Amino acid sequence: MVRAIVGANWGDEGKGKITDMLAETSDIVVRFQGGANAGHTIINEYGRFSLHLLPSGVFYHHTTSVLGNGVALDIEKFVKELKDIVSAGVPTPKILISNRAQVMMPYHVLFDSLEEARLAGKSYGSTKSGIAPFFSDKFAKIGLQVCELYDDQVLEDRLHKVVEIKNATLRELYHQPELQYEDLLSEMHKQRELIRPYLADTSKFLREALKEGKTILLEGQLGTMKDPDHGIYPMVTSSSTLAGYGAVGAGIPPYEIKDIVAVTKAYSSSVGAGDFVSELFGEEADELRKRGGDKGEFGATTGRPRRVGWYDAVASKYGCELQGATEVALTVLDVLGYLKEIKVCTGYEIDGKVTDEFPVTPLLNKAKPVYETLPGWNCDIRGIKNYEDLPENCKNYVDFIEKHIGTPITMVSNGPERHAILKRTPKI
Ligand code: GDP
Repeated sequence: MVRAIVGANWGDEGKGKITDMLAETSDIVVRFQGGANAGHTIINEYGRFSLHLLPSGVFYHHTTSVLGNGVALDIEKFVKELKDIVSAGVPTPKILISNRAQVMMPYHVLFDSLEEARLAGKSYGSTKSGIAPFFSDKFAKIGLQVCELYDDQVLEDRLHKVVEIKNATLRELYHQPELQYEDLLSEMHKQRELIRPYLADTSKFLREALKEGKTILLEGQLGTMKDPDHGIYPMVTSSSTLAGYGAVGAGIPPYEIKDIVAVTKAYSSSVGAGDFVSELFGEEADELRKRGGDKGEFGATTGRPRRVGWYDAVASKYGCELQGATEVALTVLDVLGYLKEIKVCTGYEIDGKVTDEFPVTPLLNKAKPVYETLPGWNCDIRGIKNYEDLPENCKNYVDFIEKHIGTPITMVSNGPERHAILKRTPKI
């Protein structure tokens, strides 16, 4: 059985915590897209961790963690992250890396930074992890699959080709020093040894695991709004953030994905640029940002302050639908306990007309939020163990969101800790 855990919004919805929790009863956790550009915060008996590339199952001894073919594999970051968790006392996890994953090359990171600097104020808000140049090269067919690192002829030919192309751009567009073929080659010789022990045909491994009746979790990164096709293009990431892509990025049959958990946060937050209709500014925003998440709303990878706003039911409904969500986990509900009144964005006004359909980007730019105001519960709900014990206004808020997003909310998270999760019987 395959279950996907994916973001319904702009990312940072708390997927890491939900994956970590569900991994407890799963055999395999798979990352199927993205790279080390986003972070999942996990708090458990070993401490507080920001995982960027490692699947959130690495804290359990019974789980195998897989980096699928769809991942942007930054070898040095992988090695460092693994070393960091092991030195924090986590037992060495079982990890497999797809031999078809593509390798994040040192020049991808360089080009990401150079392009952001060139675009200056008009940048896309990249985390400068090399993601956009990496995926451009993958689809331009000048990338390198991990398996190709071990074939000297293929590696050398590809690097010669790449150096020629990259150096032309470095010279003409960025006016920077050129790449040296020999340096690059010896760097890749070094890097290939670091991951040799983890390589496997992970697609075959997963297909066999399915035949044996194993439970597999697909762990998504970012959320629907950052999908290159269905998100707020061009302020998106470069690989699909949708559960459907899990089949491609992990190499499993699409019909095996039986359960799709869309994670959505009880208010909105977004890192990077792009239209954000229900965004808050000034003191109201500062207050929410300070109280948000488990340590305030600051990016797990970059430390950048996240933009925050009221819950956007228009974006979330769309977000859940595009994910094909079968259920929803509503997270970080406890953070709203300080508010006397809470607004929810239930419509967008575009050119004088109100809609609850999420528009294409040029229209999103014109959208003004239409809010409904609900009474807050004005108390701390952390530590509550049964959903029914939540304050009435809090349950009404959850019911209201469920009605507007049209997908059953089955889990409500009321604290960052692994077990701070309340099971809820959906009303739709
Ligand atoms: P991800 O990328 O979707 O995994 O999300 P992040 O880990 O970047 O952001 C979620 C943040 O919210 C992290 O700081 C989590 O520790 C925190 N978090 C998750 N669930 C809850 C919750 O129910 N309550 C609170 N207060 N924090 C939570």
